[in-house]
Amino acid sequence: MPDLSRAEKVVVAGLGTGGDLELIKEFASLIGAAVGVTRPLADMGIMPRDYQIGTTGVSLRAKTVFVFGASGAPHFVYGIRDCGTIVAVNTDREAPIFENCDYCVVADLFDVLKALIKELRGGK
Ligand SMILES: Cc1cc2nc3c(=O)[nH]c(=O)nc-3n(C[C@H](O)[C@H](O)[C@H](O)COP(=O)(O)OP(=O)(O)OC[C@H]3O[C@@H](n4cnc5c(N)ncnc54)[C@H](O)[C@@H]3O)c2cc1C
Repeated sequence: MPDLSRAEKVVVAGLGTGGDLELIKEFASLIGAAVGVTRPLADMGIMPRDYQIGTTGVSLRAKTVFVFGASGAPHFVYGIRDCGTIVAVNTDREAPIFENCDYCVVADLFDVLKALIKELRGGK
């Protein structure tokens, strides 16, 4: 089990993924990142509790964090407060996560993941 608090890169999946972490895991693997989740996904049993980020989970100190489909609730944001560069992807441009990140991407997370994976695989 990876110690998420030591990971340099983390890809976080929120409830916006609907619990479908296939592309999240593929992207994380391609960039050598660990995977984390928000509490609802841990509650659903999608990932073990050790992968939950936030006040009742792990606090990250990663240099780079990608947050896909998380609203940015204070209990979650606490867990990424000490990170370096934070990139957030959310379809809701008013989502609070956009006040707590360095790069805001207003888009469907699955479209963004597919594009990133294609690029990382050399356009294939
Ligand atoms: C005492 C207490 C402790 C807690 N501790 C924690 C904790 O440690 N960690 C934690 O995470 N939470 C914790 N919570 C829960 C927290 O308050 C939030 O409910 C939780 O973080 C919300 O998770 P979420 O952002 O994944 O889900 P949501 O708030 O439901 O957000 C989902 C987001 O996904 C977006 N979205 C939907 N579909 C797409 C799509 N296709 N593409 C892009 N974006 C999309 C939506 O616009 C929305 O912003 C705690 C709560 C309490 C009361």
